[in-house]
Amino acid sequence: MKKDMVITIDGPAGAGKTTVSKRLAECLSYRYVDTGALYRGVGYEACAAGISSDDDPALEKLCKTLDLNLVLSDQGLRLMSGGKDISEEIRTPAMAMMASAVSARKPVRDFLLVLQRKLGREKKVVFEGRDMGTVVFPEADVKFYLDATPEVRAYRRYLEMKLKSPVSLEDVEKDIRKRDENDSSRALAPLKPAEDAVIIDASSLEVDRVIEAMLSHIQCKYQP
Ligand code: C5P
Repeated sequence: MKKDMVITIDGPAGAGKTTVSKRLAECLSYRYVDTGALYRGVGYEACAAGISSDDDPALEKLCKTLDLNLVLSDQGLRLMSGGKDISEEIRTPAMAMMASAVSARKPVRDFLLVLQRKLGREKKVVFEGRDMGTVVFPEADVKFYLDATPEVRAYRRYLEMKLKSPVSLEDVEKDIRKRDENDSSRALAPLKPAEDAVIIDASSLEVDRVIEAMLSHIQCKYQP
């Protein structure tokens, strides 16, 4: 199999990208990069600084001061901001919405584009996000787009979230649909499959089957 690839996995919220990206990276002994965490990190810091999600000059100033790092620890991938671990803080429904709001702004996308490309320099990475195959790594070796129906995605998210705090399926589904709309209708880097992405509908596929399909695609592409 070809060595040193950049693999991108894009798709909407709740499609199972995180589980699949981590597993695929493990199978290949690659690094896993969760780019959604970076957008959440910017959203979190903007909130902490009292910056509104549509204030471009203030967001641009903020981005210049940010020091975001994804660090692999015993507890998995952690997001550090200026040395502080903010991995838990960014995982709330409010931070998901804030990430979605700031991710539509040019200064934020420009800032994270540079950071993400730096992370891709060493190759052997699986990048999970929304525009990895379309904008950040248009030359990626392998691109996947993982999808599932909004109902399935909302139910999966609901099962995850209710372990942490009381939530209703209805609210989770409402948030997912709102984020889908924001992410796919924005002018900058909207959520959509790259033309050369392999689209996998994971609505009724188990994680193992998704991984098998991905590995077999990679093998066919590089060992025809
Ligand atoms: O993947 P996650 O749900 O953590 O992402 C949070 C938000 O960050 C998404 O709803 C999306 O608006 C934004 N995002 C993005 N581009 C990426 C990754 C995430 O716009 N590559």
